[in-house]
Amino acid sequence: MDHFLYRDGALFAEDVPVAEIAAAVGTPFYVYSTATLLRHFQAFDEALEEMDHLVCYAMKANSNQAVLRTLAQAGAGMDVVSEGEYRRARAAGVSGDKIVFSGVGKTDREIRVALEGGIRQFNVESEPEMEVLNAVALELGKVAPITIRVNPDVDAKTHEKIATGKSENKFGIPIARAREVYAMAAGLTGLKIVGIDVHIGSQLVDLAPFEQAYRKVAELTEQLRADGHTISRLDLGGGLGIPYERSNEAPPLPSQYGAMVQRVLGHLGCEIEIEPGRLIAGNAGLLVSEVIYVKSGEGRDFLILDAAMNDLIRPAMYEAYHEIVPVIEAAAGSEKQPYDIVGPVCETGDTFAKQRDMVPLVAGDLVAFRSAGAYGAVMASEYNSRPLIPEVMVHGDQFAVIRARPTFDEMINRDTIPEWLEAHSVP
Ligand SMILES: *Cc1c(COP(=O)(O)O)cnc(C)c1O
Repeated sequence: MDHFLYRDGALFAEDVPVAEIAAAVGTPFYVYSTATLLRHFQAFDEALEEMDHLVCYAMKANSNQAVLRTLAQAGAGMDVVSEGEYRRARAAGVSGDKIVFSGVGKTDREIRVALEGGIRQFNVESEPEMEVLNAVALELGKVAPITIRVNPDVDAKTHEKIATGKSENKFGIPIARAREVYAMAAGLTGLKIVGIDVHIGSQLVDLAPFEQAYRKVAELTEQLRADGHTISRLDLGGGLGIPYERSNEAPPLPSQYGAMVQRVLGHLGCEIEIEPGRLIAGNAGLLVSEVIYVKSGEGRDFLILDAAMNDLIRPAMYEAYHEIVPVIEAAAGSEKQPYDIVGPVCETGDTFAKQRDMVPLVAGDLVAFRSAGAYGAVMASEYNSRPLIPEVMVHGDQFAVIRARPTFDEMINRDTIPEWLEAHSVP
């Protein structure tokens, strides 16, 4: 459930009319709901309440400082994948002991920053990374807490670009080799083994692949303990999906996920960490856009919007579906008609939906893309020299711009001219 509902035919973000925000900040823009973010975080927190646990929000889904601060104040930890994310988490007030560092390509500089600033654990993904981590820790006179990310070789049954738990993916260490790699880690004095990590993919709409992976982790926990390792923490990754297409998708709820975790892993007495990103931020955000033109093509009508693939790349990149709804509901009895909904960018890939049934729309109407709070703004670019669009946060009847749209001059002046070009003027 989210807090984007119609009242008397007008779409609201909590208690603020979406059209009012559009008038204040201009389209396109992203808008996030505080209540929805908190509700999703709390759903996970409560789902795991029988076990010692920490929900570490995977901030790559949406790393705006206001989003991070909202979740951090509610008690969330953070899952980071770069120095930039680590710094963002710290800037939002998250202490190092609530930050886990994931990712296959941590550089020694990133490792240093996290070790010096404080870190809960590194989720190590390869032997070479383990050696670098050990060397940096020894040099700094620190001990790095680690889990090793194992690849359980299960099919997450999701889009191939966001599946990470099959043996052919670049992530983690094959689970069959885990005992050998843990033995290596135990011999490195700059490291302290604290647990096991697994993350099999994103937008999973079924619990079965999670359960398969977690059963393998349970078995591995007992083997590693028998080998003499201390396994006190299990990081179970993120990946629970959201209903992008509400009419025909019903992914499991956090409560069902939590019950499964308890059933499969509860007896081990480990502290549980999870790293949800999409399920916390996805349905907490809309992308709002204006219809620029309605163009009649050969046998089809196009809605040309002022938002484009550079603002929301998911449809172009993952063939993702987003519900697109009018901000002002059509009069009762309006017949729907199919539109191809596109942006202005010079690529055919700049298509949000094909033959989508919509109530009739005209130039100047506003539409909202639902489920755009995760992997939306963070993946945006300024392709076609379209300035990054603003982000807005709503809290009850208040709203605030949480990242402003850059001016055209700010965008242009980020480039610098080398001396040899400055000497000559353009004829
Ligand atoms: C992307 C990612 C997540 C979050 O995935 P969601 O599908 O957004 O929940 C969690 N952990 C790791 C290691 C990731 O790479």
